[in-house]
Amino acid sequence: MLQIIIDNGHGNDTKGKQSPVWSDGSQLLEWEFNRKVARRVCSLLDSKGITYDLLVPENTDIPLSQRVQRANHIANVNGKKNCLLVSIHANAGGGTGWEIHTSKGTTQSDKYAEIFFEEASLAFPEFRMRYDISDGDHDWDSDFSIISRTLCPAVLTENFFMDNERDCRFIMSEEGVERIAQMHFKAILRCIELQRTIKK
Ligand SMILES: [Zn+2]
Repeated sequence: MLQIIIDNGHGNDTKGKQSPVWSDGSQLLEWEFNRKVARRVCSLLDSKGITYDLLVPENTDIPLSQRVQRANHIANVNGKKNCLLVSIHANAGGGTGWEIHTSKGTTQSDKYAEIFFEEASLAFPEFRMRYDISDGDHDWDSDFSIISRTLCPAVLTENFFMDNERDCRFIMSEEGVERIAQMHFKAILRCIELQRTIKK
């Protein structure tokens, strides 16, 4: 079965990865949000008996080189085609909505990303889906280390903008975290199924 590697970006010592302080004094810290979603995805996987690795169980920021090394170790042990890394983030920079990234070029990651995109479109009908269709699929091609230097297929989800108040209030809410976790869980189940059919 496809070995799932869950990565929660950043750590409690990462500077600058946070929302503005809103009028009621609330603020989102990205490391905390990423871990909340990741841990919920992990418990959903547990409930189905699906094995996974949580790449960064620590709360501190593990350097990217070390995270890549950890992921590549898992990929080497299981076989890179038998793994899928999912890196969970919140976006910033003045936009709104949901998007997914893969490494440049056409790989198996694009097929997995397309499943995630479909599930996100279904899960968040009231939000904007942000995509780049110029290369024939909905993901954005990026050179983030965690998706481009890892040996196995990898996707990175940007789950709404923490510097947009509507987006941020959604992902700070219990409902938002639950819906984002469920969406990742459903997408992962479909990726496992896809890989199972490819292997036949
Ligand atoms: Zn991030």
